[in-house]
Amino acid sequence: MFTYEKGIQITGLPLWLDSTRKVDTCVVSHAHMDHAKKHRQIICTEPTAKFLARRLGKSPTTILDYNAPYEFEDCQITLFPAGHILGSAQTLVEKDGCRLLYSGDFNTIPGRTVEPIEIPQADTLIMESTFGRPYYRFPARRIVEQNLIDFVRRNFQQGNVPVVSGYTLGKSQEAMKILGDAGFKLSVHGSVAVLARVYEKFGIDFGDWQKFKRDEIEGKVLVIPRNAIQSRMVERLEKKQIVFLSGWAVSRKMKYRYGVDEALPLSDHCDYGGLLDYVRKVNPKKIYTTHGFADFPKYLQDLGFDASPLEEVKQVERRVESRE
Ligand SMILES: [Zn+2]
Repeated sequence: MFTYEKGIQITGLPLWLDSTRKVDTCVVSHAHMDHAKKHRQIICTEPTAKFLARRLGKSPTTILDYNAPYEFEDCQITLFPAGHILGSAQTLVEKDGCRLLYSGDFNTIPGRTVEPIEIPQADTLIMESTFGRPYYRFPARRIVEQNLIDFVRRNFQQGNVPVVSGYTLGKSQEAMKILGDAGFKLSVHGSVAVLARVYEKFGIDFGDWQKFKRDEIEGKVLVIPRNAIQSRMVERLEKKQIVFLSGWAVSRKMKYRYGVDEALPLSDHCDYGGLLDYVRKVNPKKIYTTHGFADFPKYLQDLGFDASPLEEVKQVERRVESRE
């Protein structure tokens, strides 16, 4: 039903899913840059279209609501919330009586700034597997949120500027929402702020926040993207402590790798247990895995699923071609 080469192409149609090269028509699952590119025609949710316009410039776009089937030539496309970042979608393609589900990035744990996931059933599942090893088990979300709030309180008491860092889109706004809801005032790096304005258009309220101004940082939490950790903006703060937010923080080495004082496992992906829960709910006959460890299919096979890496599809297709 599909082939894979720098993106998933639905067989016989000019239709791709998350292609990383420019194509005719592409469903873009969400606005993270490892999934998004400019195409001749994009199909996505409204928040994803707004983020893409700010990050890549405008493209001709067909906007779909969740759960609203869309006819494309001889197939039907339906987007479902993926729970990863605002606007993120799983894509269900129905063609010739078969149901193909592409997960995109997803999270089964509800966040404060994202639509809760809805998991459809499918015959074939193509899934991301970022934290696809049993080692990756996250503490309960409320505990991680409390740890973040405690970090901020402790540093205010010690006279430090608390600096909170995560990926520019999604994690940073989730941190803003957790801290805004807890009553903290926020000072926000420009690249995070421009995307936070999009969230506000979709009704997300971050409380008392402003774009970063050096002479107004007193009493505020500074929210910055990961690539600003070593910037002059942060270096020039005299007393500060930096926390980095990432699922990879379950490894204690993480904070040294990123050159930060603390790291907390606030993730917009699910952990290993969440990946397995997801697979059980989709209940597919065949699974292809991508965006993760090469050994994740083996864990699925041990549980009785027929699973292989997506990257091998190209080789399988080639082998079939060479036999003909
Ligand atoms: Zn993503």
